[in-house]
Amino acid sequence: MVSIFPTNAKRIDGELEIGGCRVSDIAARYGTPIFILDESDLKVRIGNWNSEFKVAFAQNSGQIYYAAKSFISVEVAKLINEAGIGVDVCTGGELAVVRAAKFPGERIEMHGNNKSEPEIAAAIDYRVGVIVLDSLQEIERVARIAHEKNRVQGVMLRLNPGVEAHTHEYIATAHEDVKFGFSISSGAAWDALLAVVKHESLQLLGAHCHIGSQIFAVDAFKASALRLIEFLARYKSEFGNELESLNIGGGVGIAYTESDKPMNAKEFLANVKEAINSESARAGIITPKISIEPGRALIGPSMVTLYTVGTTKEVQLKDGATRLYVSVDGGMSDNIRTSLYGAVYSAEIANRESNAKLRDCRIVGKHCETGDIVINSINLPSDIAPGDLIAVPATGAYGRSMASNYNHVPRPGVISVVNGTARTIIRSETEADLLALDVVEAPQRLSKESN
Ligand SMILES: *Cc1c(COP(=O)(O)O)cnc(C)c1O
Repeated sequence: MVSIFPTNAKRIDGELEIGGCRVSDIAARYGTPIFILDESDLKVRIGNWNSEFKVAFAQNSGQIYYAAKSFISVEVAKLINEAGIGVDVCTGGELAVVRAAKFPGERIEMHGNNKSEPEIAAAIDYRVGVIVLDSLQEIERVARIAHEKNRVQGVMLRLNPGVEAHTHEYIATAHEDVKFGFSISSGAAWDALLAVVKHESLQLLGAHCHIGSQIFAVDAFKASALRLIEFLARYKSEFGNELESLNIGGGVGIAYTESDKPMNAKEFLANVKEAINSESARAGIITPKISIEPGRALIGPSMVTLYTVGTTKEVQLKDGATRLYVSVDGGMSDNIRTSLYGAVYSAEIANRESNAKLRDCRIVGKHCETGDIVINSINLPSDIAPGDLIAVPATGAYGRSMASNYNHVPRPGVISVVNGTARTIIRSETEADLLALDVVEAPQRLSKESN
């Protein structure tokens, strides 16, 4: 079995089994499409990141915050809590899920470039450890709401270090022309800091950055950490005391295909640690407490999407070659990443092994868009046929969390498989769920003046 599948995936009599559950049994019980979470694989990976993190940073280890936006559910939030790591949420909705899991507030960090007042109030009421501030207006909003509630809220500043990470434009977040963070080079970051320290209801803990997602090289992380360290050094030289924390965000890439060569936790952390220690010493500050926010690197490899093939169609290409279009029962509604940023996935026939000759296929969804593509080009056995199950690995991050109801397709659920047992952690939607939002309301007059 290829390494991009979760640890507990293997072939039994030619059929794919995950967490001891055969895909044909999963499809019969839960239907397709369905997201399958290898729960032990996730636990082991989180445990590994956490122990490597503690080894690397020792007394300087802040927190690993799991990025909830990559995937969150109440059960996964409980699992993350039990692992002892933190969680980062960006909206009131994500906060509501982790709250439902009784996630301790002090290990929650709140992000977002446009948090609403109710979201800020909810975060403060739940005693979240850190709110990461992303605009001058927000500094005043959070300060005022914390003051009204008689609270001193721990905050960090999201800084833009002006680093170009090598990834897709839509998921690179720290060059200058983006909506996130306060630019260090323009002076906006320092102005923001001066605005924060005026408020007694805010306690500035340090600096944060997040340079993008699905990044394979450690250089961009190091470069941004160095700019943040210079910023902390400036604080020390102007204020005398020191800011204690540095959060370098998430973004560590994973393997979607055999040709992807991601860093493992140990490699990544050792490299980052080395750079932070030496630069802190050079800048004359105490090495700050380091936090990180991986999402994809924790959950991504733990899930597989299972589809059923509905139709196949051979298409003549200009050069005389042919391509087989393989239509599955989901598509851009459960995996938007291929059409959104040209993400490349791999797939296998899951219900059986085939010795048939390989041929070029395009796996497409059932939506009314040409761009509804799961995998643009992949070699699959030429005897692939309606009724076959297709497994797409590494769909744990930004799959279910970005799912939509386009074409009124119900979103797939998520099942967790362990040791031959399966349980639903997010149930698949039904047509009744879709219709539940369609209401008939009597006309309401909205203001006294209009008539
Ligand atoms: C998206 C995001 C993350 C997680 O990114 P991954 O690529 O999933 O690791 C972490 N921090 C912030 C602020 C983010 O926006």
